[in-house]
Amino acid sequence: METLHKLDVIIFDKTGTLTKGEPSVTDIMLKTAPIIGLKANPHRFDEEALLRLAAIAEKRSEHPLAQAIVRRAKEKGLEIPDPEIFEVIPGHGVKALYNGKTILLGNRKLMADNKIQIEEDLEERVKALEEEGKTAMILAYGGETLGVIAVADTLKEYSAEAVSILEKMGVEVAMLTGDNRRTANAIAKQLGIKRVLAEVLPGEKVEEVKKLQMEGKKVGFVGDGINDAPALTQADVGIALGSGTDIAMEAGKVVLIKDDLRDVVNAIEIGKRTMKKIKENLFWAFAYNAAAVPIAMGALYPFTRFVVSPELAALLMALSSFTVTMNTMTMKRLKPKIR
Ligand code: ADP
Ligand code: MG
Repeated sequence: METLHKLDVIIFDKTGTLTKGEPSVTDIMLKTAPIIGLKANPHRFDEEALLRLAAIAEKRSEHPLAQAIVRRAKEKGLEIPDPEIFEVIPGHGVKALYNGKTILLGNRKLMADNKIQIEEDLEERVKALEEEGKTAMILAYGGETLGVIAVADTLKEYSAEAVSILEKMGVEVAMLTGDNRRTANAIAKQLGIKRVLAEVLPGEKVEEVKKLQMEGKKVGFVGDGINDAPALTQADVGIALGSGTDIAMEAGKVVLIKDDLRDVVNAIEIGKRTMKKIKENLFWAFAYNAAAVPIAMGALYPFTRFVVSPELAALLMALSSFTVTMNTMTMKRLKPKIR
């Protein structure tokens, strides 16, 4: 409560916090030259075959990107066999063995780490997709790139409004994501966020919070995922979404029950009002006692012969507590500022 209204920066996680976290496949693009011999129909390798390979690789992954791909493949009625081996590489993508060849699906870092070269025209397509705010995943099979699958997530209804109110209040807003810089910038632009921390690996989110704290800033972090938990704990105030994972809710000091980011503003407002009440109460308690204690000691006696009887003293004491309690009770009338 004390720290909430002193926050200088609030960092929002992108996926699942600013966005709904329910991405869906928007584009499936083959690399220009068609490759023969990979489909059930052996004569053509088409978009569906690319999607199928991606789904095989993602079948056992729980990442929202993976679920989007598998869902689309199922909608298309594709059968998805199990890969022989499957491995998740956090913040990079997935690696799977199918038909004795390796499927790699993920970002540039994943391709670079596996020494897969991304051809220039493919790179151009990836860039174009990213500029539209989509997450583009490159698929390589047997050591060669085959194409790209793009996935996009929709923004939550009130994300932009929450950001603009916070900025007006003088709180700096930043966005944090593991997604690539271009996609992140495109999304931040839609939201009016200027400070973007992109390509942050899940384990590094906490470092970004520490960095800002080292600049002497009070940092708030809003997140929903398992990988947000350390950052939520590190932040001066961690704010978890009630729709998020249990671990995030456990780590956050504030939990937004509804999925409405404007409640970050309301939480700050509640913090501000609470502190104001505490100060008011302290003031009145001290003022009251500063006056009443000397009177009880007989300060008025020389002039007016007035003494405080034990009964009156008891009443005055109770009255003091009563006013403080009543003043606090007015908090019940507090209505959220924005709705
Ligand atoms: P976020 O912070 O947005 O939740 P992550 O840190 O989980 O993102 O992932 C960062 C990036 O790594 C993704 O944008 C994607 O390019 C890649 N990636 C992660 N997991 C997968 C996956 N299962 N399949 C494909 N790509 C993935
Ligand atoms: Mg998230």
